[in-house]
Amino acid sequence: MRKTRLVCLLATGALAWPGLARASAVVNDVTRINPIVVDRVLVPTTIDAIVEAVRSHPGPVSIGGGRFSQGGQTATEGALQIDMRRLDGVVAFSKERKEITVQAGITWRKIQNTIDPHDLSVQIMQSYANFTAGGSLSVNVHGRYIGQGPLVQSVRSIRIVLADGRLVTASPAENPEIFYGAIGGYGALGVIVEATLGLADNVRVERTSEVMPLSAYRDYFDTRIRGHRDVIFHNADIYPGAYDTVRATSFVRTDKPVTIESRLMPEDKSYWGDRLGMRMVSDWPGGKALRRYVLDPILFRGERVEWRNYEASYDVKELEPVSRRTSTYVLQEYFVPVDRLEEFVRAMADILNRHHVNTLNVSIRHATQDPGTLLAWARTEVFAFVHYYKQGTSDADRREVGVWTRELIDAATALGGAYYLPYQIHATERQFRAAYPRADAFFALKRKLDPTNKFRNKLWDAYDKSGSGPSPARPRAPASNRSAPVNAPPDPAVRRQIAAFLQGVPGYKRDEAQTYLTLPEWLLVYYPGEYARFLKDRPASDFPYFASIGQFWSYYRDVYRLTRGRYPVNWGYHVMVLVIGSSYTAENGIKGSYERTIGRLVERLSGPAPTQEDVLAADVAQDYVDFIRAEPWYEFSFLRSLKQLWAETDLFGPHLLRKWERKLALSAEYLVKAEYATLIKVASKAAYGNEVTEVLALVDEAPAAALEGEAGVEVRRRFEDGSALLSLPRYDEFRDTVLRLVTRGIRFREIAGNGEILVTAVVPAEWSYDLPSGSVVIEKPMLADRRLKRIAVRAPVASLHGILLELADRKLEIEHVYDY
Ligand SMILES: Cc1cc2nc3c(=O)[nH]c(=O)nc-3n(C[C@H](O)[C@H](O)[C@H](O)COP(=O)(O)OP(=O)(O)OC[C@H]3O[C@@H](n4cnc5c(N)ncnc54)[C@H](O)[C@@H]3O)c2cc1C
Repeated sequence: MRKTRLVCLLATGALAWPGLARASAVVNDVTRINPIVVDRVLVPTTIDAIVEAVRSHPGPVSIGGGRFSQGGQTATEGALQIDMRRLDGVVAFSKERKEITVQAGITWRKIQNTIDPHDLSVQIMQSYANFTAGGSLSVNVHGRYIGQGPLVQSVRSIRIVLADGRLVTASPAENPEIFYGAIGGYGALGVIVEATLGLADNVRVERTSEVMPLSAYRDYFDTRIRGHRDVIFHNADIYPGAYDTVRATSFVRTDKPVTIESRLMPEDKSYWGDRLGMRMVSDWPGGKALRRYVLDPILFRGERVEWRNYEASYDVKELEPVSRRTSTYVLQEYFVPVDRLEEFVRAMADILNRHHVNTLNVSIRHATQDPGTLLAWARTEVFAFVHYYKQGTSDADRREVGVWTRELIDAATALGGAYYLPYQIHATERQFRAAYPRADAFFALKRKLDPTNKFRNKLWDAYDKSGSGPSPARPRAPASNRSAPVNAPPDPAVRRQIAAFLQGVPGYKRDEAQTYLTLPEWLLVYYPGEYARFLKDRPASDFPYFASIGQFWSYYRDVYRLTRGRYPVNWGYHVMVLVIGSSYTAENGIKGSYERTIGRLVERLSGPAPTQEDVLAADVAQDYVDFIRAEPWYEFSFLRSLKQLWAETDLFGPHLLRKWERKLALSAEYLVKAEYATLIKVASKAAYGNEVTEVLALVDEAPAAALEGEAGVEVRRRFEDGSALLSLPRYDEFRDTVLRLVTRGIRFREIAGNGEILVTAVVPAEWSYDLPSGSVVIEKPMLADRRLKRIAVRAPVASLHGILLELADRKLEIEHVYDY
């Protein structure tokens, strides 16, 4: 056991011994979702060791700082990773010049420990102090400072080891192209080994905080924050949900005595309270409202005066979840010119809400224009939007994050903005170039300084087409055009008009959570189907009754997890599923127990040939399945099946023992079910009243030719942009109709007012989902035939056509499309 743990520690790179070059290690970042197998990890303690390694290593070289970037920016497969964390000394410090020269692996916190006794502060850094200077320079980070922008503004010079092993000094005056390329260059041009940084005074600051509508924030910022030299830190948190209210918090220079004595955040501080708070906000029902109306008012009450260094020395530990195995907290960031703030927030709110992103916070920061780095994210004065959210770690979850991230990137670049590069790599190449228009100049410089493409990592593997190294892993292109959402973005004004109209249409909007929650209900159609197929050629005693009970509840657990936190809890539906699940459990528990004992014994005594009763039972099972695909199960006449049993089978015949055992067992089953069905029928009518018989869907276009022969489809309204509101039948017919419509070129924009829909398909067990849109959220074997499995695909409605056509093309069985 202890041995296993040690191996794990080594493999994850958690142990880093100076000078040690470990063979074939797995390196990861803080999210734990980007494991990369590198050839070796070198932990140098001198610049010479780096020069030697870069000069002599024949393959790719990657550079790791604190490894807080979140998309593989510090490694690539098979590379020598230079882990900078032990090259972390202070080289020179001048209080008078307010300047410090440090080795690149040093953390901000270690710098703060050095300069705080001299009443100085880091001029620009992130909100947390765990990052290395080199990692921060290579990302060109920013903080919450007012009147400052990207880190480059505080850098006097750097020293960098280039691909040929040369150690070069770069500053705005000396080798400026290297200076403006390497800062913000994500380790593409060389290893930054030292930096000389400007410092600021460590002053006392007083916190102010107020809540206001987003619409008032620009004015507030212009009059109260921008250009006010006394405002040291400032940010505004947008409350998720409506995204129309912000809490603006500033730390303003003051002469008042401090209310927090510590000059720096204690390094052994316990963070359990912060972690609990995060858990409550992200996972608890009503967590977001709890934060806004309870936690924040407590957190921001009272006077708070502290040192600048205290506010700048937070530890990322406060954000660390208990486990990152199935879900993880993640960051991303977008930048837009200051006058586009509200436009961006509107677009962002729409995207995050449409995709039910579990957003914990969006923090608005401000940054002045970048002085000229090649990969500048602040090409003008910008507002930054730091988006902090929770996501699952499965491939499906990650694919889904990619879908809405790309929408956010488009929203930012359409306004002349950019997205931030240290996070997950979801942007397409087009998006990367739209956000970083000087990328060509950057890659040209890289070719000049690093002609063999030595310095590599996942970021540059994805976007540096000029690289002469092994073929880079690019974000996957769509397998075929039709798989991408082809709907042209509708004119926003028309779109608003249509949305307003649809809001008034009775029955248009159905609860999106239902697309998931109805899956367990449908299982009670699928399982009898499997049972009926099974009985055709196998004895009843072999059916996996108990496994199907277990699988039913595991599906329920999965859909519960998929909907928890994303939608308000639909208690009525959960109760209903619990009731039907309990009935199913009881029925199969009793039946399984009987069939596995008495049934099996009689079967063995009588031999393998089926009796008339066995054959009839198989027919009834099939009739039942055919019936419940269109009608509620409780309408099925079990009494008629009972009559059939006694009228259509002989009293005497071969295998008499089995014949009578079946007669009695089936009679008991049909009788009990007939009684139970009557009971449920009465209860359902009382509880649910009449059922809704149509689903309304908004489609891009509905040409008459495409609707020809579609008896159940009706055009309710046509809109000025060519889109139309269609009425479609429900349940199985919904699936069939949708399939026919997409084949005839119809593209859906919304179904029942929703942007996503669940599709299940039965596919070969070894098949893996590789369609460019949609993601598999549940996958389980078919119990009665292990060569097959059922996959549940979360499909964006705008891509539904592509997904269905692709599945159909590959001759895979589209089992159902869940119409809420
Ligand atoms: C909780 C959290 C909060 C954050 N807050 C902020 C914030 O407020 N503002 C902000 O701007 N960003 C923020 N970030 C992003 C963060 O600044 C970056 O991820 C930054 O890279 C972290 O520094 P690091 O030392 O971990 O660098 P790493 O992740 O180790 O490296 C980042 C990049 O720099 C390269 N690199 C590292 N060292 C060197 C070197 N010596 N020479 C050349 N290249 C090198 C790496 O190859 C890699 O491409 C935050 C991230 C997290 C996880």
